[in-house]
Amino acid sequence: MRRKFDFLVVGSGIAGLSYALKVAQQGTVAIITKAGATDTATRYAQGGIAAVTYTPDTYEKHIKDTLIAGDELNDENIVRITITESSERIKELIAWGTRFDKTTSGQFDLGREGGHSEKRVLHHKDSTGLEIQQVLLHQARQNPNIEIYEDYFTIDIITQHHLHEEVTRRRDDITCFGAYVLDVKSNEIHTFLAKTTMLATGGAGNVYATTTNPRVATGDGVAMVYRAKGAVEKMEFIQFHPTALYNTKESPSFLITEALRGFGAVLKNGAGEEFMQKYDARASLAPRDIVARAIDNEMKLSGDDFLYLDCRHLDKNELINHFPTIYAKCLTIGIDIARDLIPVVPAAHYTCGGIKTDAHGRSSINRLYASGECASTGLHGANRLASNSLLESLVFSHRASVDAIARINAIQYRDDIPDWNAEGTVLNEEMILITQSLKDLQAIMSSYVGIVRSNLRLKRAFDRLEIIYCETEELYEKSILTVKICELRNLINVAYLIIKMAMQRKESRGLHYSLDYPRTRPLDAGSSINRHDE
Ligand SMILES: Cc1cc2nc3c(=O)[nH]c(=O)nc-3n(C[C@H](O)[C@H](O)[C@H](O)COP(=O)(O)OP(=O)(O)OC[C@H]3O[C@@H](n4cnc5c(N)ncnc54)[C@H](O)[C@@H]3O)c2cc1C
Repeated sequence: MRRKFDFLVVGSGIAGLSYALKVAQQGTVAIITKAGATDTATRYAQGGIAAVTYTPDTYEKHIKDTLIAGDELNDENIVRITITESSERIKELIAWGTRFDKTTSGQFDLGREGGHSEKRVLHHKDSTGLEIQQVLLHQARQNPNIEIYEDYFTIDIITQHHLHEEVTRRRDDITCFGAYVLDVKSNEIHTFLAKTTMLATGGAGNVYATTTNPRVATGDGVAMVYRAKGAVEKMEFIQFHPTALYNTKESPSFLITEALRGFGAVLKNGAGEEFMQKYDARASLAPRDIVARAIDNEMKLSGDDFLYLDCRHLDKNELINHFPTIYAKCLTIGIDIARDLIPVVPAAHYTCGGIKTDAHGRSSINRLYASGECASTGLHGANRLASNSLLESLVFSHRASVDAIARINAIQYRDDIPDWNAEGTVLNEEMILITQSLKDLQAIMSSYVGIVRSNLRLKRAFDRLEIIYCETEELYEKSILTVKICELRNLINVAYLIIKMAMQRKESRGLHYSLDYPRTRPLDAGSSINRHDE
């Protein structure tokens, strides 16, 4: 089936929805989302959204904190744009219906997170993302110009390549005419033609075995753009949370807040011994990056799949009082944190790099925008400052909407696009080929391309990935398309980009730490223990 829209939006998180609501003033909008509309990372955001609201906070302080966290690989102009436009975007969120917590005096109850020099994180209890997700989705569902397609999986964006022209990375006129989309329920592949397309497909945490990201975070947008010969950058910078609950039956992984260590919990190895003193005099209270690396090293030395956090020496009532959610969550898997050790493991949390965009959310491909976690705007540099990502999504979705609205009337649909050709494909009846390759891929990335890297580990990962890549491409060519095979292919593509860019970075910088290039610069100020995790 063929459908035509002025604006095509892939993704129903904060980036996709906030953009859709704005462009809907100017034309018809389709929002494509591969699962339910609330299956997003946005809904999991707990900590909140960073923005300057009251003195003594200033834009300059927020800018400086962001640059320090980013290890000065940020684009300062983009940092300034994001932060100086934060107040307007927050006002809009509130006008759409978002409720942020207030104190008894009526002021916003601002949180402070690691790396922020002031209290500046607006939040709705500890479920800010869910509040934003529900408000934006409610608005989108009410809008007569917006159609939401749930369980529709975008396979690829359409470019001249699909008109049998040669498309290389050297071409500067690559243009997006829409996307091929798989209706997951009927298994039909539709052609969505659009005057402009926005990719808001979120992160890629599932390239690792343990992640806080929802299942939908498989880097699809990044892979689509790379396949279409568009620009992708900074993929080596993957942010890990040091302590997620180790539970192989659960995805996404449950975060064990760093505040628990601040409260007195101690990290222990598989033998039940403290180990942090070997790495830092502050032991379990050492900065986040040091703890993450120490855990990684201990796991590599012992070969264990997880380590422990010990709260048994802490006052039980106070523990439950301060951490009721963690207490209740652990009990559901038979762990009483007042009596038992908590198994923990680092988890992939945020993809800093992605589709390269400019100050208007434009990708290197004409008529194609990107916003949110799939985009690399230049805001985060080599490490993201906590709670800056929801803000980034709002700012660049807004800027992209202004740009797209200004151009839309001058753009014509391309009507000569062929429908998807599925000739010669058959149903792959051996799902094991896909599920095992996914496990292999995640194991390779977690073992060799995690928190601590080296040239040898990266080379090993690259060589092993090559085998999975060849096998999967062969399978893909022959198979009737399913979400699973498309996601696997996308994750392989993302893994390739992470490894390649990590190999090219001949230094330890921000989130990329290599044993072969010891860090000489002092650690950033964003590494303190969070009082609130996001
Ligand atoms: C546990 C957790 C806590 C966090 N806490 C915070 C916080 O407190 N503050 C903060 O600023 N950030 C936080 N973050 C990060 C933040 O939530 C995300 O970066 C942000 O929500 C990303 O929004 P997005 O719109 O780009 O993507 P998402 O919200 O992930 O949405 C992506 C959308 O794209 C769709 N999609 C993907 N691929 C396809 C495809 N091929 N076809 C169709 N649809 C597709 C998905 O189905 C989904 O609808 C947190 C993240 C996690 C995981």
